[in-house]
Amino acid sequence: MASIFSKIIAGEIPSYKVAEDDKHYAFLDINPLAEGHTLVVPKKEVDYAFDMPQEDFKEWTDFARRVAIAQKMAIPCQRVGSAILGFDVPHAHIHLVPLQNEGQMNFKNERAKFSPEQMTEIAKRIATAFNQE
Ligand code: AMP
Repeated sequence: MASIFSKIIAGEIPSYKVAEDDKHYAFLDINPLAEGHTLVVPKKEVDYAFDMPQEDFKEWTDFARRVAIAQKMAIPCQRVGSAILGFDVPHAHIHLVPLQNEGQMNFKNERAKFSPEQMTEIAKRIATAFNQE
């Protein structure tokens, strides 16, 4: 069965898209730790990130790096934090979180709330920065 992220990539489930190329898709986390929290996924479904072939992993993290650069341009933050967890969704994804401080990267924190209009605007800001790189 296709993962929820494969359904998002296929457009069967809506998402706040931030960036895309032929092998990768980046979109806002629906329960963000902070403004601009983005997930970067390989389109080819794999559960555990470190099972990926080296070349695929490299291309994926290169793409994520470009997304993080766009986030830093678009969202006021000190740094963009990154994490690979995958306990909830078995489709490899990198969390990229614009941070003001280290404490915001705690996945047990209460999640931030943004309206659909705000999420659309945040995604657009990052997408615009990504397309300017
Ligand atoms: P984990 O698998 O532990 O790395 O966490 C999965 C992440 O996916 C969580 O932060 C969720 O908020 C996020 N998530 C789950 N479903 C969606 C969705 N439909 N759209 C965006 N983010 C999602």
